[in-house]
Amino acid sequence: MRITFDGAAGEVTGSMHLLEVNGQRILLDCGLYQGRRADTYERNLNFPWEPASIDCVVLSHAHIDHTGKLPNLVKQGFGGNVWCTAATRNLSAYMLMDSGYIQEKDVEYLNRRRARRGEPPVAPIYTRDDARDTLPLFVSVGEGRPVPIANGVTLTFRNAGHILGSAFVELEIEEFSSGKRRRLVFSGDLGRDEIALLRSPAAAREADLLIMESTYGARLHGRYETALRRLREVVCETARRRGKVIIPSFAVGRTQEIVFALNQLDARGIFRRSLCLWTARWR
Ligand SMILES: [Zn+2]
Repeated sequence: MRITFDGAAGEVTGSMHLLEVNGQRILLDCGLYQGRRADTYERNLNFPWEPASIDCVVLSHAHIDHTGKLPNLVKQGFGGNVWCTAATRNLSAYMLMDSGYIQEKDVEYLNRRRARRGEPPVAPIYTRDDARDTLPLFVSVGEGRPVPIANGVTLTFRNAGHILGSAFVELEIEEFSSGKRRRLVFSGDLGRDEIALLRSPAAAREADLLIMESTYGARLHGRYETALRRLREVVCETARRRGKVIIPSFAVGRTQEIVFALNQLDARGIFRRSLCLWTARWR
């Protein structure tokens, strides 16, 4: 058995890990690398192995840095199953189409600049049509339901509490050559307890191998209530000064949490006056 890390190792984004066992190749996530334009294009265009040689893909969740390279994988010859939860499948239908649109628009911009420099145009990494071709490969599996995905490999998804449909992956692996049985746990992105819109992450059972995200690995999060209180203070203080609160936020997951939290605070009547002020000024 062999595992190769082809992204999101020593960096954030581009989650992609190759598991080779019993002569089969299983890809854990197929994420888009999101970085500076020049190297981003090259990196998202190419794979370090032959895409058609991959037997199946397992997705932890629908964020683009975990799924966004799939349409390119399919464009370059992959035709196996893409295993994921039902919500990840539904979300990906929108997000991959949107990503295809962004790829098309990014290249239009890039090509205008290249034309000015007398350079030949480049093609988009993939298009909305490629994204559309990817969607029929998705196979959704219920949380907690073991399903064989390759010879000697059984997959179970467990709730990761990160975004809608997010899961961590448990693989029960029997390696035929050695007769060894191992459990591999791949965390994907992990959520936290007490988030209002999502169930808390499930606990992982023991693992022989653990691949785990560590984006906030060196930080302790405060309690949800504390964060809510801080948000209220910032909003009220800014409204008092007749300012505007601008919150940069990831579109899927974080934005819904923020909107929910603002609504929750307003329902408690904490800053109803401030909110009225905002809407009046923005109308
Ligand atoms: Zn994520």
